[in-house]
Amino acid sequence: MSVEEVITTKYYAFKLKHGLTKEAFVDLPFLLENPKGMAPTLDQTKSSIAKLANLQPAFYDCCPKSCFCYAANPSLDKCPTCSHPQWKHGGQVPFKRFTYVPLIPQLSTLFKNESITQNMRYHAKYFTNEGDHVPGMISDIFDSANYLHLCEQYITSKGISMGQKHFSGRHDLALGLSTDRFSPFRHTFCQKPQLLHRTTHM
Ligand SMILES: [Zn+2]
Repeated sequence: MSVEEVITTKYYAFKLKHGLTKEAFVDLPFLLENPKGMAPTLDQTKSSIAKLANLQPAFYDCCPKSCFCYAANPSLDKCPTCSHPQWKHGGQVPFKRFTYVPLIPQLSTLFKNESITQNMRYHAKYFTNEGDHVPGMISDIFDSANYLHLCEQYITSKGISMGQKHFSGRHDLALGLSTDRFSPFRHTFCQKPQLLHRTTHM
């Protein structure tokens, strides 16, 4: 990264860590007596961070009552469950839209960090001499009956065996989804897949 990108990243990390408002963020360079040297705007900072992260979010219209995502059937213009219209005033502005960062680019980004990459291979070492497994004890999710059962099952796609068992490769990843309820399009609750790479140290 360039010097400017490093500084911009530090500015944004400071904003996120301490919950700075947009106004406080803009004033930060003045506090540091560097008003002209490195004073990116918040929009510039977000744009720079997005470019560095190389993660492009996808936007999907949804019912404001969380019944339906229009990605499932783009030809509809009202919710098939509650009949709430998709568009405000019959125009092109949706009542509700949610942001989704696709999973594969997220995983690709994780693999670019050497430290995280090592952690993501935790499961592959777990049952070896380097791993944390203790025979007779359940000390990690990798000791669970469900995980061990999956390890004995061949991966299938549309009923056809892929000739490889689950998590048999050292670069394979185990993903889990945990939630206390579902309301994925409102902001009250958040559900996202959890990466089961080093649960004992998370
Ligand atoms: Zn609805």
